[in-house]
Amino acid sequence: MIKKFNKVLVANRGEIAIRIFRACAELGIRSVGIYSKEDKYSLFRTKADESYLIGEKKKPIEVYLSMDEIIDLAIKKGVDAIHPGYGFLSENPEFARKCRKAGIEFIGPTSETIESLGDKIKSKILAKSVGVPTIPGIDKPITDVDEAIAFANEFGYPVILKAAAGGGGRGMRVVYNDEDLILQFNNAKNEAKKAFGIDDIFIEKYLEEPKHIEVQILGDKYGNIVHLYERDCSIQRRHQKLIEFTPAIAISEKLRQKICSDALKIGRAVNYISAGTVEFLVDKHGNYYFIEMNPRIQVEHTVTEMVTGIDIVQSQILIAQGYPLNSDKIGIYSQDMIKPRGYSIQCRITTEDPSNNFAPDTGKLDVYRTGSGFGIRLDGGNGYTGSIISPYYDSLLVKVISWSRTFEDAVRKAIRSIKETNVKGVKTNEAFLINVLNHEKFLKGQCDTHFIDDTPELFD
Ligand code: ADP
Repeated sequence: MIKKFNKVLVANRGEIAIRIFRACAELGIRSVGIYSKEDKYSLFRTKADESYLIGEKKKPIEVYLSMDEIIDLAIKKGVDAIHPGYGFLSENPEFARKCRKAGIEFIGPTSETIESLGDKIKSKILAKSVGVPTIPGIDKPITDVDEAIAFANEFGYPVILKAAAGGGGRGMRVVYNDEDLILQFNNAKNEAKKAFGIDDIFIEKYLEEPKHIEVQILGDKYGNIVHLYERDCSIQRRHQKLIEFTPAIAISEKLRQKICSDALKIGRAVNYISAGTVEFLVDKHGNYYFIEMNPRIQVEHTVTEMVTGIDIVQSQILIAQGYPLNSDKIGIYSQDMIKPRGYSIQCRITTEDPSNNFAPDTGKLDVYRTGSGFGIRLDGGNGYTGSIISPYYDSLLVKVISWSRTFEDAVRKAIRSIKETNVKGVKTNEAFLINVLNHEKFLKGQCDTHFIDDTPELFD
């Protein structure tokens, strides 16, 4: 059954809010924005058809986490559906449940699916149950440090302690010996409790030199599910992605197909609805392991859109209205018809200072100019000449996404665009991004997740 939306509220800010407002506009749906008092002068809120100040007495982050206030506003304004974007409430099963209880469609998977994927231990067990390889580890919360030591000695150091409820690159500790493990065990538990409210931690082998390869999937409400191929997100700093691209040029066709079909196995096992990402690590021998599935749109969805021509955010909104994948509106009639074309790279320009350990910089942008042109897509948030970069939210300024027929050309275009970009008044990571893009290892697609840490010349 199709239930057409007239109004969609975006429970987010910055570039992803704009991305969703645009998708709504193109679908003929009225968009509703929310903003905090700190975001009063942020560009994103002016891009919605209507937007409302909420949470005046709340802290900057809490505003975008105010479930009841957001839902009350949605009811008052006659909203049909809420898109959570990424971060904030996007992976909160309670929010999804509350929306639906209030008669508002949550644009994303069911709360049960979100819940089952929110726990890294449970999702590892699920992956194993459908025959998808996972990293050797103890797949239950560990309470006894001796158990962890026994594992580390059997499988060898290094090992990684992870918070079961972790996310956003937080709640992970790499450990190299028994002493370290004893010391970090309680720290990891305390940190998990503080950050995520649950102190469940687990242990697994820490892979050296892995690549991070993830698969975009899309499912409708009728059990149809497809993958939109993979992305290589190995260029990371502190487990946070910086540059992403597709296709992953350094893996074999056979491995690509295997990983993509395993991603579908996981999607099917949780009856996945909407856009989601199945993440894997691949070691240098070509072994691959599932690490987690993210039940939301990702920052790097753009590169997949560029090579497949499929608008993932529009698809999410259409799926939530009840359109099947193989409807004319969505236009995905079969897996076989999805044929990636060319290469796409996304670089995240942030207001961070690489020479000062990537400390966020803030202040007024005296100059803000970007470099567009053929093959460049710019997904921006709040940047314009005269705008203020505040310390309250993440430091993503603009995503530069290039597309070209060959990987080398896509790299060149990205460099050209970043060189044309001119930001004054606040420090950015532009020069650092260019150093990565120009690096021989990057050009061969051979970087692993430790590339940034292992390559001091990137900071020159
Ligand atoms: P989060 O949910 O916080 O994003 P993930 O489980 O997706 O955490 O892991 C994020 C990154 O951490 C991975 O891309 C990888 O770089 C690193 N990582 C996680 N687990 C391992 C592991 N067992 N071995 C090596 N690196 C790992």
